[in-house]
Amino acid sequence: MTWETVIGLETHVELATRTKIFCSCTTEFGGAPNTHCCPVCTGMPGTLPVLNEKVLEFAVKAGLALNGSITQHCKFDRKNYFYPDLPKAYQISQLYLPIVRDGEVTITWGDGNHKTVRIHELHMEEDAGKLVHDPWLDQTKCDYNRCGVPLIEIVTEPDFRSAEEVIAYLEKLKETLQYLGVSDCKMQEGSLRCDVNLSVRPAGSQELGTRTEMKNLSSFKAIARAITYEAKRQIERIEEGKRVIQETRRWDENKDATFAMRSKENAQDYRYFPEPDIPPIDISDAYLARLWKEMPEMAEAKRDRYQAQYGLPAYDAQMITSQKALADFFEETVALGAEPKQAANWIMGEVLGGLSARALEAKDMKLSPPTLARLIALVKEGKLNRNTAVKVFEAVFDHDGDVDAFVAEHGLEQVNDLGLVRETVKQVLAENPQSVSDFKAGKEKAFGFLVGQAMRALHGKADPKAVNEALRAALAE
Ligand SMILES: [Zn+2]
Repeated sequence: MTWETVIGLETHVELATRTKIFCSCTTEFGGAPNTHCCPVCTGMPGTLPVLNEKVLEFAVKAGLALNGSITQHCKFDRKNYFYPDLPKAYQISQLYLPIVRDGEVTITWGDGNHKTVRIHELHMEEDAGKLVHDPWLDQTKCDYNRCGVPLIEIVTEPDFRSAEEVIAYLEKLKETLQYLGVSDCKMQEGSLRCDVNLSVRPAGSQELGTRTEMKNLSSFKAIARAITYEAKRQIERIEEGKRVIQETRRWDENKDATFAMRSKENAQDYRYFPEPDIPPIDISDAYLARLWKEMPEMAEAKRDRYQAQYGLPAYDAQMITSQKALADFFEETVALGAEPKQAANWIMGEVLGGLSARALEAKDMKLSPPTLARLIALVKEGKLNRNTAVKVFEAVFDHDGDVDAFVAEHGLEQVNDLGLVRETVKQVLAENPQSVSDFKAGKEKAFGFLVGQAMRALHGKADPKAVNEALRAALAE
């Protein structure tokens, strides 16, 4: 029998606000345990939460970008459960009136495949703390720094049929949220984590099978492997005549397998009720209109525009828009007069190379657009050859800096004195009679050697094209 895998996703995304959702503690990642806390986020009796307005703004912007409808009268609810990482013994979340409903995202993957994934809802909630298990001391310690960090949870319909589709969706989601500036989506710091709901059914069937939920997956690799493993496990069970049990399972990265954690709770088990400490939120049309106006141009629109407006190949447009900071850098460099394709080449080559060698993201780069634009201009004006320009680039990459001053200080300006180039070439030929006769006997390799010698004699500062031409001319004499 052929089986079909059916997957739905719940994605938790930490919002990039400076302070927590209901108090003014910092949301900064890390820090010594229990130093980013106050009576509100540790749930002390008598404290009252106050909603951070930025959280609402970010949630609405995410909803608009995901083509959802915004619930203009929305509320928070209390989700009750006891766990040591949650000192209040309840989480403030949204069940009955989530801020966003009925969105959709179009994803593309592989060789031009695409489909639309439906978003069931998006709601706001607070994060819990972290438990640190110390097997050495046989102790578990609680760090409440993360308590109250704002989250949005984005729930899809069961529209995925493969791990590939899931990854394509997550990449699109990440790109969208990063462009909006609502989250850094750093999976390595837990800013984006997924719960995967998965079931299998005979191909062609319309009914859904019994699903299991895999919690807290925090890398694309883990998600893809967990999906493959769990689909296979369920199919094998059914083919053996056994039942799939509805439960929460844990993916163990080291063992490459999922393990049962607990049977799945229903909403009733959490005894949800309206949060009495936070008044309902009414969103005006004017507020929505203002946020619409503030929406940035998204990656997809930029890719189309770069091809149409600047004539960039699709590949270049894709690379440059992969990080918003990189796209901004490109646009500023072009606005300063750099030829778009030249700017694209420098960004895809030297800039991305420099970033990856330092494990940096574009938004943390010191190099500024005026510096790159000036470097490109110097090459175009014939004042620097491309090789020397790369050396200058490397010298200024870490701290930015005055390119002209650097060139003057190190005497790097290109030698454009054709007389000097010709004279140097003649000297090189006189010093290398063997290579000259090799070349005349048809050995093209000898020509490369002579170019190298001439460039070296000119301290690498000549235009390689001029040296080539002078050499050909002198050898033809
Ligand atoms: Zn606090």
